[in-house]
Amino acid sequence: MPSIGRNDPCPCGSGKKYKNCHGPIDAERATAERKLKQAPDTLLPKIMDALDRFGMELPAALGTFWNGAYNVQDIKELDQHEDRGSERFLTWFAFDVADELGHTPVQRLIAEPEGLELTEAEAQVLAGWTNVRLQPYEIVEIRKGKGLQLRPLFGDGKLELEDHKAAKRVEVGEVLITHLVPAGSANYVAGAAAHLTADTVEKLREFADVHVQDLRRDNPDATPADLIRSRSYIFNHFVMALPREEQEIGKLDELVAMTRATLNVTAEQIGFGSSNPEQAMPVIRETPDDPNVQDDPNVQTEADVDADSDANVVTGAIDTAQVFETGGPSNAKPAAARSSGDDEGQDD
Ligand SMILES: [Zn+2]
Repeated sequence: MPSIGRNDPCPCGSGKKYKNCHGPIDAERATAERKLKQAPDTLLPKIMDALDRFGMELPAALGTFWNGAYNVQDIKELDQHEDRGSERFLTWFAFDVADELGHTPVQRLIAEPEGLELTEAEAQVLAGWTNVRLQPYEIVEIRKGKGLQLRPLFGDGKLELEDHKAAKRVEVGEVLITHLVPAGSANYVAGAAAHLTADTVEKLREFADVHVQDLRRDNPDATPADLIRSRSYIFNHFVMALPREEQEIGKLDELVAMTRATLNVTAEQIGFGSSNPEQAMPVIRETPDDPNVQDDPNVQTEADVDADSDANVVTGAIDTAQVFETGGPSNAKPAAARSSGDDEGQDD
């Protein structure tokens, strides 16, 4: 808003001074907007703390998210294996994992906010988070010092991301895989964001398309939106398989090829980290042009190749695929997920 002096005539044309007309109204609106924009900083930690309520559902979700590479015993070391691993997992769990009735923890907290002790602004912001899911966003424009304009890679519309740090680290055409939460007139990153260089975007489209084709077997009308609602964990599988060096881009080809092979033949038992690895194994071993897979009898599904056989590639997926800090709250992690940074100091 251009600055209007308190004693200037009000731009509404009333003839009154601004301070005696729209001045107070504008000030109040600005205060309310500021409160909404600040709400995620305090709201996200409250959500993370409340995830205890859904603890029973965590173990299965953990395996799904990490494609079977980790289980619940590994949660304390997750951050050593995957950059901001526990935070990525818990954010996904909160926003994306539906119970048998189809409701995510965030949706259940919106319905039953008792115990969260939300401020008015937090409650208002939380109500707008029902449909937030982990998904890729393409960077359309960078606004220096302010943030980014993004477009959902598999959706319509443009979104403003207020994050001046992110704006310094990315380029137009690159992709962020993250949870984008609205607050007031802007959007913020909840938790971590994986940063994909432009050369991986086509692979991501191909990878997602294989999954959409698979969904269409049960539902001919399935769209990428259905993929995001039902299998958003595949985007983390993709991040896990991202190459560390540019010349390792073949890893993504491998991932796409394996996904295609797995889905083609075992359509009935789809579900990564499936409880039925025996079924998936022979299928993958028959993949003709993939020597790594044939050599490794433990390989079950897609990104296991990377997660199991080459841990360095996975943990080091930073150069072409950074998972970076954003403007979100630094304390948005529950105790169980906090990385201690001190291996000796834990006595429980
Ligand atoms: Zn006025």
